[in-house]
Amino acid sequence: MSWKRNYFASGSSGLQGMFTPRTMSSIAPSKGLSNEPGQNSCFLNSALQVLWHLDIFRRSFRQLTIHKCMEDSCIFCALKSIFVQFQFSSEKVLPSDALRTALAKTFQDEQRFQLGIMDDAAECFENILMRIHFHIADETKEDICTARHCIPHQKFAMTLVEQCVCGSCGAASDPLPFVQMVHYISTTSLCNQAVRMLECREKPTPVMFGELLRNASTMGDLRNCPGNCGEKLRIRRVLLNSPEIITIGLVWDSDHSDLAEDVIHSLGTILRLGDLFYRVTEDKARQAELYLVGMVCYYGKHYSTFFFQTKIRKWMYFDDAHVKEVMHSVNASSTVAEWMPLMTA
Ligand SMILES: [Zn+2]
Ligand SMILES: [Zn+2]
Ligand SMILES: [Zn+2]
Repeated sequence: MSWKRNYFASGSSGLQGMFTPRTMSSIAPSKGLSNEPGQNSCFLNSALQVLWHLDIFRRSFRQLTIHKCMEDSCIFCALKSIFVQFQFSSEKVLPSDALRTALAKTFQDEQRFQLGIMDDAAECFENILMRIHFHIADETKEDICTARHCIPHQKFAMTLVEQCVCGSCGAASDPLPFVQMVHYISTTSLCNQAVRMLECREKPTPVMFGELLRNASTMGDLRNCPGNCGEKLRIRRVLLNSPEIITIGLVWDSDHSDLAEDVIHSLGTILRLGDLFYRVTEDKARQAELYLVGMVCYYGKHYSTFFFQTKIRKWMYFDDAHVKEVMHSVNASSTVAEWMPLMTA
């Protein structure tokens, strides 16, 4: 495809250099997380590195103390404990075992995130956030949580209403309100839409990324007209709040996708919240411009994480116990099969 080079390149820190661990030096101002053979904890380690490095989360979580404690299966306590170690321990590599065990105990009935078994990093991240809500704001139901101290709902949650409106017969579906922590998009639709958008435009611009995500998410999800007139409709999603952090989960349609390079080249580093949905009701959200700060990648049945350290203004690479600074931009030769960019204002 011809749109690969600099497709949505935004000038300074393009994405091209973030997939080439072999050229990195080994300065490690952050800490690694251990993953012994058989533990399969890379999915949790990746989610944990993202939470720790997100300034908004780390600072707000530090303020919280009162919670409904679940003792040895308490995700809140396990997270608190590892955050203290991140901050004060002299060790370069920390064990994430306590959080891994708390997660396994909490999700025992669902048989998810069990010890020794590999799981999904985006879903782990999502579930840790939902558990924090449970520990600190359980009295309010998840979908209508307005607790001001609830970091997951105040900072991460996208409060949405979706509806189909038919242009031919005028029928409209019942508006469906819901809350999501991660906005999932299919990589196949992402690549298809990128090609379509470039066909009718002279030149790609960095701000097109939000529109691309919106198109990819609605075109990949056509619905039948609620009045049964035969039309296929794009769903309209309206954002009702103004989240500070947006998490996008790219879903791969197969284990052996050949789209990895196309996906990498269709990514933007700037996301305008107003472009991501059909309509955005809050002024603050309409004006919000978010920057890519982190990304979890899945390759060869293994998760690793890239994160932008705002203090030193450098991209860091976290692969379990190994922490490296990303030094150079080289071509994107490694393949990426699943990842989750986190964008923060
Ligand atoms: Zn606790
Ligand atoms: Zn909440
Ligand atoms: Zn219709």
